[in-house]
Amino acid sequence: MAAPPTDHYAEDHPQDDAGNPLCLLAVHAHPDDEASKGSGTVAKYADEGVRSVLVCCTGGEAGDILNPAADTPDVRANLHDVRMAELQASIDAIGYSALHLLGYHDSGMPDTDVNARPDNFANAPLDEAVERLVKIIRAERPQVIVTYAEDREFYPHPDHIRVHEISLPAFDAAGDPDRFPDAGEPWQPSKLYYTGWSRRRVLTLHEEFERRGEESPYARWFERGNFPDHDDRFTTMIDVGEYLHRRRAALLAHRTQVDPEGFWMRLPDDRVREIFPWEEFAPARSLVDTGVPQGEPEDDLFAGLRAPADLHKIRAGH
Ligand SMILES: [Zn+2]
Repeated sequence: MAAPPTDHYAEDHPQDDAGNPLCLLAVHAHPDDEASKGSGTVAKYADEGVRSVLVCCTGGEAGDILNPAADTPDVRANLHDVRMAELQASIDAIGYSALHLLGYHDSGMPDTDVNARPDNFANAPLDEAVERLVKIIRAERPQVIVTYAEDREFYPHPDHIRVHEISLPAFDAAGDPDRFPDAGEPWQPSKLYYTGWSRRRVLTLHEEFERRGEESPYARWFERGNFPDHDDRFTTMIDVGEYLHRRRAALLAHRTQVDPEGFWMRLPDDRVREIFPWEEFAPARSLVDTGVPQGEPEDDLFAGLRAPADLHKIRAGH
């Protein structure tokens, strides 16, 4: 189910040491998560010619319609198709090279009817979902995988928890010829990162909303009182200041989920670029020497993986 490469997919692909094209694979739970988490980073790598692959695990059928202008009977009756069309528009804006649907129904929140469906992501057998992801990893051959941390106390959506639960086993199994022998030629990814929000990032943006006299969407994150304090985990900072417009376009493509008049969209990109232009990642697994000491800041998800010739190009600014 791979979409054709987009315009952003450059001719001159950067490579790893072994001559394989660099590939970044991101695993997300629902249509719109790919826009709200790490989309500036994907846009940046896509522009560099890195193949970027999205795995979207569910159809997001249980999501509420959060934009009053999009809440019509027609949209409600066709929510799966509407959300798939929104997803395609979002990944075009970001510049993803390919989309793979893992094929599960949205699991909804605990104690809802959809949460009891046997075909939802959270209720499907873990090994089945891991195998589906392994099959995609082996076909796409990413060096780097981005997924979610175990954050169930702060955000207990069963689909987000499940993304975490399948990613580590799939990372390990993909390179093991004894695991899932029918799922393609083994391929071992080299690095796995968690995408997320540090406290310092959320606080910086929150204070800027307040300074401008706007209602802050982050206020309720702090009100819940359990926002994780994991700032020391986020040692990889990608400057996406030049890609904020692509992130915004991707978010706005999710018309049923994002109200263009809502508070999320009210901080101008120019201001975000000045106060916090980074997306942050927590290294969770690395099988390569990145050349960056553990715990030290890193500014490239592919650190330690690039062919020497490409490194020279980057340093020379080409
Ligand atoms: Zn989600």
